[in-house]
Amino acid sequence: MEPAAEQIQLFMQRFVFIICAFFIVSSAGAQDNRPLKLSHLTGDFYVFTTYNLYKGNRIPANGMYLVTTDGVVLFDTPWDSTQFQPLLDTIRARHHQEVLLCIATHFHEDRTGGLEFYRQRGIKTYTTRYTDELSKNHGMKRAEFLMDTDSLFRIGGYSFQTFYPGKGHAPDNIVIWFQQQKILYGGCLIKSVEDHTLGNLSDASVTDYAQTIRQVKQHCPHPRYILPGHNDWTNIHSLKHTLKMARRLARQQ
Ligand SMILES: [Zn+2]
Repeated sequence: MEPAAEQIQLFMQRFVFIICAFFIVSSAGAQDNRPLKLSHLTGDFYVFTTYNLYKGNRIPANGMYLVTTDGVVLFDTPWDSTQFQPLLDTIRARHHQEVLLCIATHFHEDRTGGLEFYRQRGIKTYTTRYTDELSKNHGMKRAEFLMDTDSLFRIGGYSFQTFYPGKGHAPDNIVIWFQQQKILYGGCLIKSVEDHTLGNLSDASVTDYAQTIRQVKQHCPHPRYILPGHNDWTNIHSLKHTLKMARRLARQQ
């Protein structure tokens, strides 16, 4: 091959490679940039994920919903406020059901952000009284109905319990336990196995965290699914992983 032709061929190969790389990167990017992601968990349970910026990084936040014959129950609201309505629309289109009720698991924005929006749309919103006090003090959105103690909900053939295990990620964090299905909805108290730290500790109780996780383990035995507030939720070892990090954190004090 003539040197000039060889150069042209090399140039073309590089050109084709760059074009391919561009399309691969941009199509992967397009997938990652979806503002609302829905995943099937099991049975009538689904996970919804929205994103927001934390310290300059785009972070996913997980919530859950349960479809019953009496309507849909939301566990926490989207973090991204542009997704409050799209979540309702998507649920209606997919399941032909309206959202009936929404329970937020602590006062931070990634849990309570949509409470007022949903209340205005006729959805019954719930937090504990403790969460409501903190929400009020921190200027967060508040629920219409307040729970004084751990509560049992029965809706459309399903039942679940709210449980306050003690201070951890936040002073008021609760978990939700579906005893029959063995689903532990942990919220931000439970970290994903992808997380290498306990994350935002600005309202955390470093000394109580490990004991709080032990309370969850005791109260919610042998969970089949565990939902952490952020990142990957498919690994069942998240509770154990969180306990390990909480114990390490306490030792460092
Ligand atoms: Zn969180």
